[in-house]
Amino acid sequence: MGEDCLFCKIAAGQMDTEFLRETDSLVVFKDIHPQAPVHLLIVPKKHIRSINDLEEEDRGIVADLLFTARKMAADQGIDKSGYRLFFNVERGGGQLVFHLHLHLIGGWK
Ligand code: 5GP
Ligand code: ZN
Repeated sequence: MGEDCLFCKIAAGQMDTEFLRETDSLVVFKDIHPQAPVHLLIVPKKHIRSINDLEEEDRGIVADLLFTARKMAADQGIDKSGYRLFFNVERGGGQLVFHLHLHLIGGWK
């Protein structure tokens, strides 16, 4: 599953990507092409292609992504100023990496 998947490799620690946070279920790292002063990707370790491919058993993962986003926003000091969370879903939604990930962006002046 996900043998040629970039985010599977990153999440498995095979790409020397620095993690801002790692838990049993997910990793957090900086986007390589940031769209804002803060741009983090919150990525489940399980290979799930997109929101369309979520299964009932993934409810806990989705909750982990959101609670982690809230924590990371606070850690980055952008919780009060505000931030944006989004999932791109499939090509028409702008998805380029087909392994579920939640974008956290913010930190504008
Ligand atoms: P998508 O368009 O699929 O929602 O977002 C994929 C994101 O992954 C893009 O914002 C892109 O800059 C980021 N990205 C792609 N390859 C890498 C990589 O090798 N390392 C990191 N840190 N980010 C990546
Ligand atoms: Zn994957």
